[in-house]
Amino acid sequence: MYSITEIFKIGPGPSSSHTFGPMKACEYMNEHYKADFFEVTLYGSLALTGKGHLTDYIIEKTLKAPCQIHFDLKTSCLHPNTMKIDAYYQQQKIGSHLFVSIGGGQIEIDGKKNKEKKEVYPHSTMDDIQKYCKSSHLRLNEYVNQFEGKEINEVMQNIFQAMMNSVSSGLQTTGLLPGKLKLERVSHALHQSALSCDDLTDQNALLLASYAYAASEQNASGNQVVTAPTMGSCGVIPALLYHYYFDLKYPKETLIEGLKVAGLIGLLIQENATISGAKAGCQAEIGAACAMGAAMIGYCQTQTNEQIECAAEMGLEHHLGLTCDPVGGYVMIPCIERNAVAAQRSIDCARLARYLRNVKRNRVSFDMVVQTMNLTGNKLPLELKESSLGGLAVVVK
Ligand code: SF4
Repeated sequence: MYSITEIFKIGPGPSSSHTFGPMKACEYMNEHYKADFFEVTLYGSLALTGKGHLTDYIIEKTLKAPCQIHFDLKTSCLHPNTMKIDAYYQQQKIGSHLFVSIGGGQIEIDGKKNKEKKEVYPHSTMDDIQKYCKSSHLRLNEYVNQFEGKEINEVMQNIFQAMMNSVSSGLQTTGLLPGKLKLERVSHALHQSALSCDDLTDQNALLLASYAYAASEQNASGNQVVTAPTMGSCGVIPALLYHYYFDLKYPKETLIEGLKVAGLIGLLIQENATISGAKAGCQAEIGAACAMGAAMIGYCQTQTNEQIECAAEMGLEHHLGLTCDPVGGYVMIPCIERNAVAAQRSIDCARLARYLRNVKRNRVSFDMVVQTMNLTGNKLPLELKESSLGGLAVVVK
């Protein structure tokens, strides 16, 4: 598996596969061709929801020469997030590449994985990692540290800070989100309600929700956020970090170690299934984020590796089958609220795992649930995988 830095990337919202990935494809073309014109063809989910997800906006902004964008709704491709970019110079085609945006802002070029990335981990399943950790007496964060090396610490500090910034800037912003839905930002008002809440349990739940709304609203507005593991699900982990840091006073160092464990969970899901909503529905985005969040909180509460696995497994298992049906093609409904709900669920899963492991052995391993998510995703119809052709997208007007 590659580094956990593949899971956490800082970039512009609203969608890692629909804006961040295409942005990288355009950067690749800029780097390799001195073109005076580009022709871009979007296929599958990129064509169906590219407008709402600002794909056209980011392409025009990133390419260094004028471009024409085609939304091809007919051609079917192996991967739903496929795009072709042709480069021209003085009307002669000088290059053409097929890019696949595989989720979390990562791309494949002409069917090949990015060769510049190097494998970091010798294991690719939770079972193997658990065995290795047991024999080496390592906690999961120590496992990450052993293979990533010291350099990971500075990267994670920056990721932590960028996540906190996405929440704090979201909380300070009011007004309408961009686009035709005319949705009002609510994080600021929700935060105010939380602060004046008398009941401590409700207050904590509302504070956490307001943080998830804040980061997700920043994402929906095209502002800078951090994939965790995607941009559609970028509110879950930052909300948990913000809450545990500012409200519950957990040390930053502990939270950063927990964030590494969350990254490991995201990597395993990406390696053995997918983190792309267009490939497997929202279970692959919010389900993955919830599993990562549950593992992170489990770590911060000093749970054992087995308890942490159990927390992550529950976080994903109880999102199995979750569809992706963004209304109007915008990463707003159901996405923003879904981040708030998943953040709460992460805490529930960590709490349950902590006690459940004392009274019963888990029959469903994390690897099993990841495999199930992949199988389920393959069975979901196109209408419910980031195409805006079904579900809430056709019911909500
Ligand atoms: S419904 Fe889920 S997978 Fe689909 S765009 Fe929204 S957050 Fe992403």
